Amino acid sequence: MNGALSAYVISGPTAVGKGTVVAALRQSHPQVYVSVSVTTRPPRPGEINGVHYFFVDDKTFDNLIASNGLLEWAQVHGLHRYGTPRQAVLEKLAAGVPTILEIDLQGARQIRKTMPEAQQIFIAPPSWEELVRRLQGRGTETDDEMARRLETARQEMACADEFDRVIENVTVDNTVRQLVELIGL
Ligand code: 5GP
Repeated sequence: MNGALSAYVISGPTAVGKGTVVAALRQSHPQVYVSVSVTTRPPRPGEINGVHYFFVDDKTFDNLIASNGLLEWAQVHGLHRYGTPRQAVLEKLAAGVPTILEIDLQGARQIRKTMPEAQQIFIAPPSWEELVRRLQGRGTETDDEMARRLETARQEMACADEFDRVIENVTVDNTVRQLVELIGL
């Protein structure tokens, strides 16, 4: 596929700071395209439809799956569904634009099959304790939700070696620098 080499999957456990890192990268290198996912999760305070996610209901998500509108999708944390809009990503790749998919482990595995040229990057926390601290510090999840996210995180951390590259997210600046080098920006 034309331009498929410029696809990058960024995955990693909840609260590791993927979103912050990707936002900082986009800010410093606006030529990068970051795919905007579709989700059935309700927006968090401050999240904007079409910017952070496309927030949709279950029926709309079902229709997207049925019409082959998603490149991959998964139910994350056993709760809400998230998916990557197919058309926008393929158009960017065809135009040679470096494209980032910030998706979970299940999605990364699907992309590994359908787009094997994509570079797969895992963002890891400096330690498990630090990950728990970051999740608690975010304060956007209920205790139940936090427990569920930590359980998923434990499983995801065990799969880091499936990825082409593991970057330990100690500071945002340092992680962004490593991504810039990897993508060749
Ligand atoms: P959050 O609810 O914290 O925004 O995201 C929860 C998880 O969903 C994160 O691990 C994130 O990487 C993942 N995610 C976001 N968008 C997608 C997507 O389009 N596909 C998949 N498979 N996972 C996604």
